[in-house]
Amino acid sequence: MNDILIQNTTAFFEKSFGSAPEKTVLSPGRINIIGEHIDYNDGYVLPAAIDKVICFAFEKSNSKTSKIIAIDLNEEFEIDLTQEVKLSDVVWTNYIRGVIKQLQDNGFSFEGFNCVFSSNIPVGSGLSSSAALECGMIFGIASLFDLKIEKKDISLLGQKAEHWVGINCGIMDQFSSVHGLENKVIKLDCNTLDFEYHNADFKNYSLILFDSNVKHSLFTSEYNTRRIECEEGLSILKNHFPEIKTFRDASEEQVLNLKDKMSPKVFSRVHFVVKEINRVTKACAALDNGNIELLGELLFETHYGLSQEYEVSCEELDMLVDTSKTDENIIGSRLMGGGFGGCTINLVKKGHENEVKSKFSKLYLDTFGIELKFYDVKISNGTTLL
Ligand code: ADP
Ligand code: MG
Repeated sequence: MNDILIQNTTAFFEKSFGSAPEKTVLSPGRINIIGEHIDYNDGYVLPAAIDKVICFAFEKSNSKTSKIIAIDLNEEFEIDLTQEVKLSDVVWTNYIRGVIKQLQDNGFSFEGFNCVFSSNIPVGSGLSSSAALECGMIFGIASLFDLKIEKKDISLLGQKAEHWVGINCGIMDQFSSVHGLENKVIKLDCNTLDFEYHNADFKNYSLILFDSNVKHSLFTSEYNTRRIECEEGLSILKNHFPEIKTFRDASEEQVLNLKDKMSPKVFSRVHFVVKEINRVTKACAALDNGNIELLGELLFETHYGLSQEYEVSCEELDMLVDTSKTDENIIGSRLMGGGFGGCTINLVKKGHENEVKSKFSKLYLDTFGIELKFYDVKISNGTTLL
């Protein structure tokens, strides 16, 4: 699948700049198996890079000017590297401007370059095409000009670039795009950036994302409310149990003990967070033991929590997961990402993928009048030079 993308990107580069690219970079999107809404609540996450990528072709331009072409948008822009980098009205260019600015601000020196890029990562569906864009750009510039930048720092620079664009994202997306390994998930501690790989062999099951094709606008306001509710809950936990410093130190029993001391909403949020942190550990063990059925159950539990306790789901996502629960060919399903829209991640029995897809598309269209999209994903390597 990526072969065609690479061929097209290379051909476009040759047509635009008259020579073969000096460097070609692949930068993947990512999924998160489990560990939702706990990146900012002292938890671990369990992401992985996938086989959907942005392909970049680069050469030095031998001048101070860089020209960057977004094949998919049929748009291009030029940037003079001797001028101060500023935000533009053309949003996609800001991710690249942001990367250039972060590299310059951190003391990396490089000259002008030409670049074309094209992608098969769905944009805006929660697979982190933005992180793939930032990290692939940094990786390409670094290899073109021999800049020595560690993987971890590529992720951090990518994250800073996204902050500069105006999106206050965590580190998971960039980290997984850069650190991905084929058939491995990354258990990442978002606080310390410590990480370990676990085998991701899903045995008789395929990973399929169902894209609800909806995006409800509640996300930002509810996200901010959740952060406040969780802070309140943590301070109540700390007051009663001095040994608790972070949610990671709290047991479910301790949370249950304090039910009367919290508002019902704060209790539900905290209860979810503490259980979700434990589920990530359980999911790693399930993967290590090849117990994919258990992993599936954990996904269903996470969805229940996100929907009923953390309240970040919506009727479209709930319908998809509820239907999955009654489908003998699906052993696990949950909303993936921040919620209020985007994709569900599903473990579907091999050999039954098409049957499941046609059933769900029909049902979804009949219920909501919206087309359901499907992405088959395989866990793949992080950002690489071809
Ligand atoms: P996602 O969940 O896919 O990361 P975001 O809204 O965070 O969604 O980022 C999507 C943005 O990234 C797009 O609006 C665009 O500006 C940029 N982008 C992603 N892929 C491409 C592409 N192939 N060509 C141009 N811009 C892209
Ligand atoms: Mg993004």
